[in-house]
Amino acid sequence: MPDSWGCRGNIVQTPELGSLVILPDALVVVEEGRIALIGAGQDEAQICAAHGLSADSVVKLEDGEFLCSGFVDLHVHAPQYSYAGTATDRPLMSWLEAYAFPREKAHADTEAASREYRKLAARLAAHGTTTALVFGTMHRQACQQLALALQSQGLRGFIGKVCMDRNSAEGYQESTEVALAETEAFLDWIRGLGDERIQAAVTPRFVPTCTPQLLAGLAQLAHKYDTAIQSHISESFDEVEFSQALHPEADGRDTRIFDAAGLLRHRAVMAHGTCLTSSELRRMAQTGTAIAHCPLSNFFFGDRLLHVRHARGLGVKVGLGTDVAGGYSPSMLNAMRSCVITSRALRMQQLAICGKQQSSAAARSRPMDLKGARSQEAATQEEICVVPAAQRTKFDETLLDWKAAFWLATQGGAEALGLGSTCGSLEVGKAFDALRVDTRNSAAFDVFPADSLMDAFQKFVNLGDDRNIRAAWVAGRLLRS
Ligand SMILES: [Zn+2]
Repeated sequence: MPDSWGCRGNIVQTPELGSLVILPDALVVVEEGRIALIGAGQDEAQICAAHGLSADSVVKLEDGEFLCSGFVDLHVHAPQYSYAGTATDRPLMSWLEAYAFPREKAHADTEAASREYRKLAARLAAHGTTTALVFGTMHRQACQQLALALQSQGLRGFIGKVCMDRNSAEGYQESTEVALAETEAFLDWIRGLGDERIQAAVTPRFVPTCTPQLLAGLAQLAHKYDTAIQSHISESFDEVEFSQALHPEADGRDTRIFDAAGLLRHRAVMAHGTCLTSSELRRMAQTGTAIAHCPLSNFFFGDRLLHVRHARGLGVKVGLGTDVAGGYSPSMLNAMRSCVITSRALRMQQLAICGKQQSSAAARSRPMDLKGARSQEAATQEEICVVPAAQRTKFDETLLDWKAAFWLATQGGAEALGLGSTCGSLEVGKAFDALRVDTRNSAAFDVFPADSLMDAFQKFVNLGDDRNIRAAWVAGRLLRS
């Protein structure tokens, strides 16, 4: 492609959470990888003349095709990709011991790691992920291969050398000093690549495997090199218990421990956060720390559901992550669907709690029988727990629809990484990080004549897959297919 080119077709825009509009037959002009103009209903010849474009440098999308923003995956464990789709049978801490640590440890073999990482990079690109925040392993050389794999695929990537100086598997742990020195060497190496699309992220795995000294040292490195930070926070009951046992002085709260170390800040992205209190969420908002909402893996490990609207209402930035391989799918479309379902499950949970409270109150008001027990009728009603219609609607405020999930998977993720004005949506001035989505003759779903453009795109979000993504660009450059 020349430095200036165009693309004409249906353009999907997302002005804010929950809002999605489609500009039919619009023309996007890309100059030096950035969106120079989006013209809807304007004369193409005039625009081409003004931007020095020849007619053959304009890609014409077919009816039933769309241009939308590429997806931002805020949480991927690259070394776990080899077992994605399996290992869905254990709680978190036991899962780490049984699956994650042994597989990650094997990435001391740099060549084998490189082969896996190239497959992952290709898979992410095929599924429409254009930006990814990725955990590697403890091994610096393998992490360098991960960075090169993402780079050669053309992706925008933030890569972390995982740090652990306690409570990991034998042979898969470093001293505090080595973890810090290796992290700094990795940050230096990434900087030496001189590729703004490939950046490092300082990566303490999570509180149970990192001493306060290591956390503080990593915070200093993140500050010195001005990098993103990624970790896990208050993910599950067993993880919370582990932190409590290690840090009674901080009530075992990850937020306090990270905060004391200096790790809560702008461009710090903490995965999960299902067990965060409202005051902890406020502290995250205050410091600019974001949450990587990983709805699929939360169903397996989370013990609680993340209330995204509550967190955002308190000012916390939220994006979506696949959490490969705690989440079994590398597809951000699946993350969006799980996000919608999580919000609906949360509503059901709140309805159940409300119904139970009402039934309990009703049961308490019933007379005791001669043996001092409540009547059987009360117990039966307690099981049904019907919440009256007038009260049900207030629980709708938990809901996120497909448009909101799409925003979280694009602009929400970009904002979490400090890239809110760089990518995450198709707007003038931003990099052209985009997908060409084809809903015609889809193997995954059918579009009928009565379907609107919005219906066809919604079907892609709810039913589509990698077969619907014909092309993807990062900063105007076509990703390798
Ligand atoms: Zn994770």
